[in-house]
Amino acid sequence: MPPDLPGASRRAGSAQAPDTASQEDQFRRAQSRIADSGLRVTRQRIAVLSAIEHGEHLDADTVTSRVRRAIGSVSQQAVYDVLAALTRAGLLRRIEPAGQPTRFEIRVADNHHHLVCRGCGEIADIDCAVGEAPCLEPSTAAAEHQFAIDEAEVTWWGVCANCQTFSNPVHPATKELS
Ligand SMILES: [Zn+2]
Ligand SMILES: [Zn+2]
Repeated sequence: MPPDLPGASRRAGSAQAPDTASQEDQFRRAQSRIADSGLRVTRQRIAVLSAIEHGEHLDADTVTSRVRRAIGSVSQQAVYDVLAALTRAGLLRRIEPAGQPTRFEIRVADNHHHLVCRGCGEIADIDCAVGEAPCLEPSTAAAEHQFAIDEAEVTWWGVCANCQTFSNPVHPATKELS
């Protein structure tokens, strides 16, 4: 059973009754993006890419359950493999907040950053003021190490509005991992 992560349960409602027309539309868009990237177009790749909507940051379990709703039986390993292939092809971005499940998003190539809630694991996008990596210059002390810097990974940690309303917040994302 996939763990009942907050992202999964909160979004289950909209995914349970998919609008057929818009799903076909999403499939078509996903299909041409996969073809444009040079990857072979497969039903599973289309289903995985179109399972993630703009602005979402989904873990592999959530993607797997959406893909199963869309195209039926598929193994978790197959979804992991497709996620890896789509990430390598630049169609997905993988983010790995410390202590949280790896998430995937379709907003790629703009070097945006993330806010992560310590309570529920909710992730929000923050535009990068510069728009390309690395958007922060290292101090001269870091430059002295003679690294060729290609990225500054910026993550802001805090507590989302929802979690702030609970005086004794439940931390489901943390609990799952312990
Ligand atoms: Zn939260
Ligand atoms: Zn993002």
